[in-house]
Amino acid sequence: MNKISFFNTLTRNVEEFKPNVEGKVNMYTCGPTVYHFAHIGNLRSYIMEDVLEKTLRYAGYDVKRVMNITDVGHLSSDADTGEDKMLKGAKRENKTVMEIAKFYTDAFFSDCAKLNIKTPDVVEPATNCIDGFINMVSSLLEKGYAYVAGGNVYFDTSKLEDYYVFSSQSEKELMVGVRDDVDEDTNKKNKADFVLWFTKSKFDNQELKWDSPWGVGYPGWHIECSCIGIKHLGEYMDIHCGGVDNIFPHHTNEIAQSEAFLGHKWCNYWFHVHHLNDQEGKMSKSKGDFLTVSLLESKGYNPLAYRMFCLQSHYRKPLEFSYKNLDNVVAAYDKLVKRIANLKADGEVDQNFFDEYKNKFIDTLGNDLNTSMAITMVYDLLKADTNDATKKALIESFDYVLSLGLVSDATADENVGEEDKELEAFVLAKIEERAAAKKEKDFAKADAIREELLSKGIAIKDTREGVVWERV
Ligand code: AMP
Ligand code: ZN
Repeated sequence: MNKISFFNTLTRNVEEFKPNVEGKVNMYTCGPTVYHFAHIGNLRSYIMEDVLEKTLRYAGYDVKRVMNITDVGHLSSDADTGEDKMLKGAKRENKTVMEIAKFYTDAFFSDCAKLNIKTPDVVEPATNCIDGFINMVSSLLEKGYAYVAGGNVYFDTSKLEDYYVFSSQSEKELMVGVRDDVDEDTNKKNKADFVLWFTKSKFDNQELKWDSPWGVGYPGWHIECSCIGIKHLGEYMDIHCGGVDNIFPHHTNEIAQSEAFLGHKWCNYWFHVHHLNDQEGKMSKSKGDFLTVSLLESKGYNPLAYRMFCLQSHYRKPLEFSYKNLDNVVAAYDKLVKRIANLKADGEVDQNFFDEYKNKFIDTLGNDLNTSMAITMVYDLLKADTNDATKKALIESFDYVLSLGLVSDATADENVGEEDKELEAFVLAKIEERAAAKKEKDFAKADAIREELLSKGIAIKDTREGVVWERV
């Protein structure tokens, strides 16, 4: 199997991926908070995670991928303060929380389908798993990792040797102040402690509440991913994904509670996608007017051009969105699809070439998911010295991972791309040169021209109607 490496936030290194069980991958993705449409920033994370999953599958791994749907507990600060996001969405639209959750979950998967993002094998809404959360919180209390104060249950971060697992020593020192809440929760023993279960909160109008050993209430945000991950993937997880904003506090808290609960290391690889920004900074759902797939469509953009926009930059670099940049990608995308449509499907696939090129493609993606280089490989392939059938078969195969809709059923366009026009002009000039050589009875030169064209994959034939040429 080809080597697949990517950046592991836990070790701060690009590492070769080694699963817990040979050939199998347990993968978890933090799903959307369904109080509004996903913006194209959120979808950048899901596109790049989709490429990681498909790269692993393409390389031969058997992947099981799980995603939660956050329909309860996520407060606007990501910590334990601010407004409840679901409640905010319900108020905004005069609907119930569950109506909002259903509507935006469907909208999310419809956006994913337009972007060719595969639906994970398991999708589980947090509100399906309340009993599991209660069991986990009870166990954390029994083990002494949690305490009840003021009616809420908190995780006691002072019980851990290393709570800030993703941070270097100097960052840890700076982080002491990070959790300075606007209205400090005086129930907490330590500033970094976080809520596992709320019964007392400022949201008296909280719509979704469940009975628990600590009173009627609702879960904190972080517990859902630990619980849903362990429920479907067992005690050992290979890869956990999310956007970089999830590193702290969400993923830090997930590790704290999961490892305290399990009594051993939980997940080996943490894959984080950097943010898509607009000209004013980080894209955010709470900003009101934000960019969605539907908005792009209403402006006439093919969502797959946005996927290509994401793939052309590295997942570990912030990416700035502008319509001008997207327009450039659209032009390149349309031209590429046309050039591929112009490939002839005749001839036999050159299996040696196919296997070698496919290996190179996997190695490129296996090198910290170098998606822009993987796209360059498609362009290089179009110019490569092999027949169209092999090119077409390879592009079809690569598109399993790239998922850009590169091989469309559209018939070849009359308007061949610029490079094809150049090739045509070159071949016609050579045919003329050969005709002139033949007229001069310089047959050696005429043969040399025929050989030169053949070395470029062009065969010429003298027919009664004149000289014809074709790609071989
Ligand atoms: P949310 O719906 O807010 O829970 O976020 C869903 C996913 O999108 C999470 O993995 C976030 O880390 C990620 N995310 C949020 N904002 C951005 C952004 N501007 N660019 C890329 N990913 C983001
Ligand atoms: Zn999560």
